[in-house]
Amino acid sequence: SDLSSDNIRRLVQEENVKFINLQFTDVFGKQKNVAITTSQLDSALNGEVMFDGSSIKGFVRVEESDMVLAPDPSTFQIFPWRTDSEGKAARMICDVYNTDGTPFDGCPRGVLKQVLAELKEYGYEYYVGPEVEFFLFERDKDGNPTTEIHDTAGYFDMSPTDLGEDARRDMVLMLEKLGFEIEASHHEAAPGQHEIDFKYGEALKAADQISTFKLVVKTIAKKHGLHATFMPKPLKNAHGTCMHINQSLFKNGKNVFEDKDDELGLSQEAYYFIGGLIKHARAFSAITNASVNSYKRFVPGYEAPTDIAWGIENRTPLIRIPGTRGSGTRVELRNPDPTANHYLALAAILSAGLDGIKNKIEPPAYFDGCTYDMDCATREENGIEKFPETLGEALSELEKSDFMKESLGEHIFNLYIKAKKAEWRDYSQEIHNWELKKYLNYY
Ligand code: ADP
Ligand code: MG
Ligand code: MG
Ligand code: MG
Ligand code: MG
Repeated sequence: SDLSSDNIRRLVQEENVKFINLQFTDVFGKQKNVAITTSQLDSALNGEVMFDGSSIKGFVRVEESDMVLAPDPSTFQIFPWRTDSEGKAARMICDVYNTDGTPFDGCPRGVLKQVLAELKEYGYEYYVGPEVEFFLFERDKDGNPTTEIHDTAGYFDMSPTDLGEDARRDMVLMLEKLGFEIEASHHEAAPGQHEIDFKYGEALKAADQISTFKLVVKTIAKKHGLHATFMPKPLKNAHGTCMHINQSLFKNGKNVFEDKDDELGLSQEAYYFIGGLIKHARAFSAITNASVNSYKRFVPGYEAPTDIAWGIENRTPLIRIPGTRGSGTRVELRNPDPTANHYLALAAILSAGLDGIKNKIEPPAYFDGCTYDMDCATREENGIEKFPETLGEALSELEKSDFMKESLGEHIFNLYIKAKKAEWRDYSQEIHNWELKKYLNYY
């Protein structure tokens, strides 16, 4: 949409908008917002709205806490679910700046913009199609979330009594009102699990859309008395929740991942991009899979990757090349999940792929078979490494990577590792129910 500041001022008047949420995400992907009234619209558009950065986890220390929000006018949207006569609410997504006008190192959206700017020097555009899944659970009588499911349906099932089905339909309608082009929506493999696919787009826009998507899913679920969660593995013996990242590079309006003369229909750029992803996968896993729970997804049997391999139409390795060619030629990265800060995740993934192109990193041969059955000898023969099995392992890998430190910037890199290590330590020191059940009586 072509939203100049003038257009926004006009829309705010015409539509009787009273509140404007200035949105941004913290380093851990949590959405934050500073609400202003329309009387402050001009100063917001001039980038004059300040907030106390020290109140946001992982931003800055109190001594240097003033931060500026610079809204991106192209992200202006009126929330369709707020239509009271008092006036409507709208939002703009912001970049965070220092008071001296320089971009703030701790702004995840700014980090993604930097990697995209580097990509542009090579003449490419990065297109991303995320497949965001989620669970819908019942709430208890006090309104608190449970892990009770409201259905018994499986993948693509039709079930007339599904409460979640109604909620999902409303989510799709709401997303469409917000400008999403919805390609599909369906029940997923696990009970209570859903997916809504929207059309791929330029990476920054896709990242902003993920923010909006999460907000809509949570808001509409609540309206239906349900709880939506993006927690990756809430149920032990069921599929987990992922956020596959489908990606391609375009140059002059053409998908450069396709090469009709190649045996697999893939270009040299595509192979190098895959090579870069494979090289850095262990390093970026702590970013793309940010929680302790994330790693409980990576077990055989649930279409989640366990090994850093790539395959054709194969749903067990880390990377899948779907059958589509032409403009739909794409590399699907299957490990990310929605606990990731999606701005940082896309920055990390893209810089890995771009490293592949810049340094001509050849990927290993594609793996033809189910990686779940692979033994050590086969793994070694094919040069296949295992994906990290815990957040702790993933963090050690991230910490070792000067490349990721460079891509994410030192500020975010150090802060992220410190906070996530504390999270991992806390989890590791906890005595879990599983242990008590297993050992309390036995020993
Ligand atoms: P799957 O078969 O893995 O379940 P889906 O059909 O659910 O795949 O999702 C595929 C996603 O890939 C969609 O978001 C779609 O818009 C996106 N996509 C299609 N073409 C491209 C492309 N060239 N670059 C990036 N993403 C793409
Ligand atoms: Mg899908
Ligand atoms: Mg699909
Ligand atoms: Mg899916
Ligand atoms: Mg997929």
